[in-house]
Amino acid sequence: MSQYVEYNWKANDEKHVWHSMKPYNPEATFIVERAEGAWLTDIDGNKYLDAMAGLWCTNIGYGRKEIADTAYEQMLKNSYTPLTNGHTPAILLSQKISELLGDEYVVFYSNSGSEANEVAFKVARQYHQQKGDTTRYKIISRYRAYHGSSMGALAATGQAQRKYKYEPLAPGFLHVAPPDQYRNPEQAENGDATTLPSVKNIDQVMTWEMSETIAAVIMEPIITGGGVIVPNEDYLKGVKEVCEKHGALLIVDEVICGFGRTGTAFGFQNYGIKPDIVTMAKGLTSAYMPLSATAIRREIYEQFVANGDYEFFRHINTFGGSPVACAVALKNIEIMERENLFEQSVVLGESLKRTLQENLNNHPFVGDIRGKGLLIGIELVENKETKAPLDVERVNAVIGYCKKKGVIIGKNGVTVANFNNILTLSPPLSISVEEKDLIANTVIEAVNSIK
Ligand code: PMP
Repeated sequence: MSQYVEYNWKANDEKHVWHSMKPYNPEATFIVERAEGAWLTDIDGNKYLDAMAGLWCTNIGYGRKEIADTAYEQMLKNSYTPLTNGHTPAILLSQKISELLGDEYVVFYSNSGSEANEVAFKVARQYHQQKGDTTRYKIISRYRAYHGSSMGALAATGQAQRKYKYEPLAPGFLHVAPPDQYRNPEQAENGDATTLPSVKNIDQVMTWEMSETIAAVIMEPIITGGGVIVPNEDYLKGVKEVCEKHGALLIVDEVICGFGRTGTAFGFQNYGIKPDIVTMAKGLTSAYMPLSATAIRREIYEQFVANGDYEFFRHINTFGGSPVACAVALKNIEIMERENLFEQSVVLGESLKRTLQENLNNHPFVGDIRGKGLLIGIELVENKETKAPLDVERVNAVIGYCKKKGVIIGKNGVTVANFNNILTLSPPLSISVEEKDLIANTVIEAVNSIK
């Protein structure tokens, strides 16, 4: 008899699937059946414009036949070779990544952003050891930053609520304040990069901790998940200078900012620096396949090709850099270049931000609207003077309103002290002008609906 009963997706979802981050909620959790362009269709036939690109990752949008064809052809041609040996898509992709980075990098592949960061930490520590700088192991990152869920990447993360009940994590990670220009207006001052208070603070921390113990600094060009914290234009330059002064490497986490999200191939390219190590994931394949990469400057890599048995990088993962994932990444980048999606991110992102600012800057609950490219944050506050964060019920009401109108937006920040008050927009870079306007109009209506 059971074969004639309609399959109950919702009941079986609740029964068998452990969802990420929040408990199953039959009202809020929706089950997607199809996705095309920037649009999701759930099992009940409801359509949603995905203004978060999944988890900030489906940069070219959903349902591209070219990508499916590429994966199909590569699976038939060569479905798997581990990178203990070589394969042609990895060579072509690594060359392409170096070209986009604008310098000579050697690329190591993994499957997720967390793993790419773990690789960066291990490379940084081993590099110093092999150079004879044997006391360097500490990694500095910022409060509010997110760098992943594994024990090292979570240790680097500066969001206490994600670590709570999982500690102790990997030792040797320190945190400094983020360059939040909205809550600390002195960070907005222009001038010499190294005199910015947040840069001076990193300089001082390195001195107090002893330079000889610092292996690296890791940071996103713009803190994304922690609430879209756009730094002063000179901040990254200052951080790089301070790293050089103290002999530490600069690891830039491009897991979200990379591949056009902020309007350039990589987010750091907005700020005129050259990182020592760059990690990337998400937009690298627009999430069509799991793939991440850690790009390491050639001079650093040279320390690993030397002599002894223990001087190469003793790290391996089975799936990282599979030929299918690499072929998909290459096609994804080809599409981005052919459709000028990095430039489109600047044009549509600036227009979206401007419309939101023009319509919402005077709203009593809107503290700050900021971003770069198609990465935008709207900080909601209870009171514009005190900047007290708006309560979670009203923040959720805005998100719920948008969903009812068929637009999925995000909420980010940190739940500690209720700083989870930043609405986030990060749609596919391939959205149309009409879709961009629909996002703007829906968000404006939603914010105006709260009392
Ligand atoms: N770094 C940043 C900046 C991220 O946003 C994320 C994921 N949101 C990660 C690292 C970890 O990536 P993954 O979830 O693929 O492990």
